[in-house]
Amino acid sequence: LAVWSQVPQAPEDAIFKLTYAYKADQYDRKVNLGVGAYRDDDGKPWVLPSVKQAQTALIADESVDHEYLSITGLAEFTSSAAKLILGGDSAAIAEKRVASVQTISGTGANHLGAVFLSRFYGFEKFGVERQIYISNPTWANHKAIFNSVGIKPVDYPYYDPKTIALDFEGFTNTLRSAKNQSIFLLHACAHNPTGVDPTPEQWQQIADIFVEKGHFAFFDCAYQGFASGDLDRDAGAVRHFVARKSIPLLICQSFAKNAGLYGERVGALHVVSATPEQSAAVLSQLAVIQRSEISNPPAFGARVVKMILTEPKLYAQWQADVKKMAGRIIDMRQRLFDLLTKQLKTPGNWDHILKQIGMFTFLGLDTDQCKRLLEEGHIYLTANSRISMAGLTTKNVEYVAGWIDKVVR
Ligand code: PLP
Repeated sequence: LAVWSQVPQAPEDAIFKLTYAYKADQYDRKVNLGVGAYRDDDGKPWVLPSVKQAQTALIADESVDHEYLSITGLAEFTSSAAKLILGGDSAAIAEKRVASVQTISGTGANHLGAVFLSRFYGFEKFGVERQIYISNPTWANHKAIFNSVGIKPVDYPYYDPKTIALDFEGFTNTLRSAKNQSIFLLHACAHNPTGVDPTPEQWQQIADIFVEKGHFAFFDCAYQGFASGDLDRDAGAVRHFVARKSIPLLICQSFAKNAGLYGERVGALHVVSATPEQSAAVLSQLAVIQRSEISNPPAFGARVVKMILTEPKLYAQWQADVKKMAGRIIDMRQRLFDLLTKQLKTPGNWDHILKQIGMFTFLGLDTDQCKRLLEEGHIYLTANSRISMAGLTTKNVEYVAGWIDKVVR
């Protein structure tokens, strides 16, 4: 029974720990701005009307059974998911150069992509270290995912705390100085945790360097539709890279946020190759990895998303749903900004609240200020001052602004 005596206690996950602390808090004005999950204006989880319609139809459909999906998942789901991110007119899809596999949401896509690279990327051949460049900062799980497969995560400059904006020079300098054929992880849109994205012109310059250097682009796309409310616009960077043809890349896609299907674990990995033959070989190897890890992905959420993506009426409803979520978040940005700058006249510049994109805002507060927000204000946020805009509502935004004002003065 002493076999586990050498197992050290692991620290709790920082984000989920915040949620538990929030739930245990008895204060009636407490606010949870920690976790990146959409909430409606009453602070409640929202089942999208498009999702509700699809699931109701699915449950009523007596021909739906509970057999295994194939190893690579529901084919109509993966093919329509590929079209969603790459565009209905994608040359890569038409030329059969995209290998798509259904995954356990975005996390599973990142993991499957990481395992695939660890087995098949030509690190030795290209003379590059077994490493991946990740933005500083990034989604906390990226480090853990790559470390677990023996690919070392290395930071590239991304966010400049002085300007509360993109460190474009630092980022592009690293792209240029890295060895040719290095792997870089890119957030497709609505960067987590900073909400800071390159402009379309900057993406073009970044793509130019990828072409020049032969770098591999590992796109993580967890927020398509959340950045602008427009699914096509938010796929702009990915589509631009794919159109360049010579940039080797893959895309991790999650439907957790844009379909509100967090717990159903719906996602896909799309690997783009140079030829249909390579693509078929890649797909066969992805299937081998998937078999040993999960055998077959879960069916329900993938069926829901497949219906939404393939039935025009449901798709139109979903577009409206996504727009509504993004719109509420953009409204909250404006309200928080107005309260701080016009009403409270809080010291400092708060333009970044409006400029940042997607679910999160990096307030630019220090750790002591964040601690006061949490301990005195009962406002739950991460210690790097990231707040989830989706946790703000018309009912709590004044309270939150008041506390930000208090800790800044
Ligand atoms: N990648 C990024 C950047 C994220 O922010 C998230 C979720 O927060 C994910 C991937 C994956 O999330 P999920 O596994 O729930 O799809």
